[in-house]
Amino acid sequence: MGDSTIEAVQMLQVMDKYGAWPVAAHKRPLLIAGPCSAETEEQVLQTAHGLKAIGADIFRSGIWKPRTRPGSFEGVGSIGLQWLKRVQLETGLPVTVEVANARHVEEALKAGIDILWIGARTTANPFAVQEVADALEGVDIPVLVKNPVNPDVALWIGAVERLATSGISRLGAVHRGVSQYGHSIYRNRPEWQMAIEFRKALPDLLLINDPSHISGNRDLIQSVAQMALDLKFDGLMVETHIDPDAAWSDSRQQVTPVQLAEIMRQLVVRDELPEGVELKSVEDLRTAINEIDDQLLEMLSYRMKVVDDIGRFKKMHNMTIFQEGRWNELMARHLEKSGPKGLSEEFIIQLFRAIHQESINKQTGILNA
Ligand code: PEP
Ligand code: MN
Repeated sequence: MGDSTIEAVQMLQVMDKYGAWPVAAHKRPLLIAGPCSAETEEQVLQTAHGLKAIGADIFRSGIWKPRTRPGSFEGVGSIGLQWLKRVQLETGLPVTVEVANARHVEEALKAGIDILWIGARTTANPFAVQEVADALEGVDIPVLVKNPVNPDVALWIGAVERLATSGISRLGAVHRGVSQYGHSIYRNRPEWQMAIEFRKALPDLLLINDPSHISGNRDLIQSVAQMALDLKFDGLMVETHIDPDAAWSDSRQQVTPVQLAEIMRQLVVRDELPEGVELKSVEDLRTAINEIDDQLLEMLSYRMKVVDDIGRFKKMHNMTIFQEGRWNELMARHLEKSGPKGLSEEFIIQLFRAIHQESINKQTGILNA
């Protein structure tokens, strides 16, 4: 462990049983950045020097890459650890790498890596998380845990608990969105509610947002990162490459260090209650929101009563619940109407999918009563 570890340790002190990282004393947002994958020694070092120059706090790079399908670039492997050691030495930045099994842990520890992270596919598998946790018994290195690929907060918390049980006291979480079926502007749908729930359960844990894997596309990073800051995330993990378009993995979502500096410059860091601001001025607006929500609930309840009537009609005539043509027609109509009203396609699709699912559940109950 080099001097860079000391810096990392200073900001990663133990505070509670899960070993929270005191971020109040540290700058917000904490910036973790680096390539999706280490490709060559030059690419790693050039990116790291670029990131040091723009004030990044921690350097990240994958060397063992869990890819969705075989045949894609699966990482350079252990040789990359030597490159990360050069990053520590030349830039003084703490370095972090993804580990997915006991061998990765052993090699990363031997190489003096400062921080480990657990990837989304690994978090989804308790056997793998337990193997990593067991390999970490008695070694108190900071660990970041990405949310699982599925929207399961308990599974995410469970992974954190497995590590805490092994004695890891400096734990942080990375929100990177979840897999989805069908069309969306995101590569991994953010499901912000999931991160909010996680923070409710573990309020003292450092919470980092990964706008790169949520976006899948560099043009969306700014807005996702801003959203994260507005939800009081403590930091960001942003994939950065010296030549993004030529990257061997996740090329569309990576940015150069200079582009990242511009993203950071444009981010607005807001406080929950800035000094001198009185909450009174928003109280009226909050009352209005409450009233609107009440109306929404009334309308939804009324809609479901109409749905029940249709269910009884279908039962009487022996019709299927799902009528594909009708569903497509409804969605097209909603999208056409909602665009000019400033409602995003993403939101309308999600909203009406949920309403439609509830309608199907109701009608299933009626048909099978
Ligand atoms: C990564 O950070 O490069 C990565 C593989 O991310 P995730 O585990 O979130 O898919
Ligand atoms: Mn990646």
